[in-house]
Amino acid sequence: MKHLIHIILLLIVSSIANSACTTSPPTIPETLSLDISPSQTTTPQIISTKIPSSPPTFTAEDDPAIGCPFANYPDWETSPYVLPFPVGKTYQVRLSNCSSSYHAEGKNDQFAFDFVMATGTLVTAARAGTVVYIEEKGISRELNNLVVVDHGDNTFAEYMHLKQYGALVKVGDFVEQGDEIGLSGATGLAGYPHLHFIVVEGSWQWPYDGVPVTFSNTSPNPNSLASNTKYTALPYP
Ligand SMILES: [Zn+2]
Repeated sequence: MKHLIHIILLLIVSSIANSACTTSPPTIPETLSLDISPSQTTTPQIISTKIPSSPPTFTAEDDPAIGCPFANYPDWETSPYVLPFPVGKTYQVRLSNCSSSYHAEGKNDQFAFDFVMATGTLVTAARAGTVVYIEEKGISRELNNLVVVDHGDNTFAEYMHLKQYGALVKVGDFVEQGDEIGLSGATGLAGYPHLHFIVVEGSWQWPYDGVPVTFSNTSPNPNSLASNTKYTALPYP
């Protein structure tokens, strides 16, 4: 009998020891749970590419890096460019120059801007020039609709992701600054409706070379526009 009690006591002690093992967090699960959280913060961006109706959730990665650190930005107050939407309107820049994703430093689109706009929003000419190219047959991802304007000084403005048949001009048209040129959309590589705007030099065709630009009709932008920031188009100077 004494022997049996001893065995039972041993069993109890060993079961307590086991349960202590399982309740105190071992090192490996702890590490695993820490590994999971950073990857969860990048998940919204992945999800956003599948949901074309709303802009993605911002992450720390996208926060204002204002401009490309190496770029020589022209004086914004005398810039020949205005915001590519009508005076009085306000839109948010989600990704600006040298931010992340396709706009990261060193990419062809490092000097591009993404203006968050609902599909069908009016896009206007940032600078006067001649329309040299239009694509507007795209419906979704398979084809990027765009309007390209030649400024006559070896630079071109590209207005991208327009909605299907969203071009309001035709090749050969001369547009004044502020003229209506298209309706925004989410065609091509657009995870959500926005206007991808970039000024390029030499050739407008991919792979192009972007140039740093500033805008004369909005709040001070000596290093151009900041990511995740709203800008209002003011009357032209
Ligand atoms: Zn873009």
